[in-house]
Amino acid sequence: MATKLRIHVSPPDMNQPITTPYPVDKANRWNSQYDDGGLEPLVKVFMTQPAYSRICVHSSSDMQNEVGGVLVGEWCVNAKQGEQFIIVEHALPARHTKQGSIYLTFTQDSLVDIHEQIDKHHNGKKIVGWYHTHPRMGIFLSHYDTWLHNNFFPEPWQVALVVEPHTSLGGFFVRQTAGLLDPSRYFGFYELDGSFGRSMVTWKNLSQYEERQKEGDAPHE
Ligand SMILES: [Zn+2]
Repeated sequence: MATKLRIHVSPPDMNQPITTPYPVDKANRWNSQYDDGGLEPLVKVFMTQPAYSRICVHSSSDMQNEVGGVLVGEWCVNAKQGEQFIIVEHALPARHTKQGSIYLTFTQDSLVDIHEQIDKHHNGKKIVGWYHTHPRMGIFLSHYDTWLHNNFFPEPWQVALVVEPHTSLGGFFVRQTAGLLDPSRYFGFYELDGSFGRSMVTWKNLSQYEERQKEGDAPHE
């Protein structure tokens, strides 16, 4: 157990965000009940449809035990507003996790495997967070989850996604600007359209927020 504490998920060259505008014109916004509730998340989360789909398939592959993995993509800053955001582009299931009904951990083998996969297939991309399932448990971070998040994913912009596969729920835990992580209040995300332009999101605890229509763009058909 002690050796796990020494593993740093983030290599030293991960310290610069990419400067780019928000990709909001290509995204559907999904809000949780805690969005716009006075919390100030440090980053907004964007997620591609392939990453969402991969997470859903993995999450429902084991309805009894927790499964999980890492979220890979980009850490960005919007030059105009100076606001940070992440883009989840890929989900890499952890292949060697120790699974149990109430816990999941990243072993040294699974982290080595994940870094090998990133070097091979997603070179230059960053680990922007992690995800895991809570079969029949709801969306929150346990004490252990919070410990794991702070030790393995310590960058302020790294997030934790929790998925409940039985009732189809999901939410992102994001540190606030002051650095605090609320273990019970989670956020929605921006779904980045694939080639079909149709939403894939089925998490019942999130609701679609029609940002594009409010901004005066062409309404959906
Ligand atoms: Zn958990």
